[in-house]
Amino acid sequence: MVKQVIAVGAGKGGVGKSTISVNLAVALARMGAKVGLLDGDIYGPSLPTLLGLDELSATAHGNILMPFEVHGIKAMTIGKLVDPEKALVWRGPMAHGAFKQLATQTDWGALDYLIIDLPPGTGDVPLTLAQLLPVTGAVVVCTPQRVAQDDARRAVRMFEGLGIDVLGVIENMSFFVGDDGKEYDLFGRGGAEMMAQQMGLPFLGSMPIHMALRKNSDAGTPLANWDVPAMGRQLDTMAQALAGQISVASLRSQFVQPTISVR
Ligand code: ADP
Repeated sequence: MVKQVIAVGAGKGGVGKSTISVNLAVALARMGAKVGLLDGDIYGPSLPTLLGLDELSATAHGNILMPFEVHGIKAMTIGKLVDPEKALVWRGPMAHGAFKQLATQTDWGALDYLIIDLPPGTGDVPLTLAQLLPVTGAVVVCTPQRVAQDDARRAVRMFEGLGIDVLGVIENMSFFVGDDGKEYDLFGRGGAEMMAQQMGLPFLGSMPIHMALRKNSDAGTPLANWDVPAMGRQLDTMAQALAGQISVASLRSQFVQPTISVR
């Protein structure tokens, strides 16, 4: 039984959507929640690297896949089932089928949150997801630059078009702190926050560029991010803001009253 399904999307690749998905999942688990993480990025799965799954093999009971249990979360990725280089050239129906299988044939058990790392952009997988699972809402990850905001706006419109509430925006690579302690606004800090405001969406927090985040991501050791106190705090703040929006969204859906029209 999965209580809340949360999609994480982005307008374009390379903005840190998978990194944020992993760290949100781990942050929620550190707070005591039962969390699953599904790599919906069928075309370019990153979870094998980000979670350090290289030495592990996927297992199944019959045609039910057993999730990997790592860093306090459960995770499933196409990257451990097929050659990821093949998945890159899949056309829509194949991606649809693969995603459907991962989402519905994984033995998630009881979960408070299932976080789904979507492919970048506005392709077929979000549509499949919306048809397949009761999605509580989506998070849009965006870097501050104008071009990234434009793409993120399109991602927001896509979710709205699919009837998926956008629970909030996360600004990634917001700024950079040098060894001198000085903060450098490389990409125009606050750009994604401004976009969220303009679109009337909650802002869930910003994550600066941390060298340790990149290193721990490459090494597949997300828990080490909490060894850097500033980063641990930023991740916890973001996850708390998300959990708050999830609670609001699920309360809201309980109060949706059925209506009938009498002529
Ligand atoms: P996406 O899923 O949007 O394509 P990734 O999560 O794969 O992006 O991130 C792209 C690269 O940027 C990865 O190498 C990741 O470690 C790095 N990265 C992402 N966010 C940050 C950050 N805030 N600080 C440092 N490196 C980051």
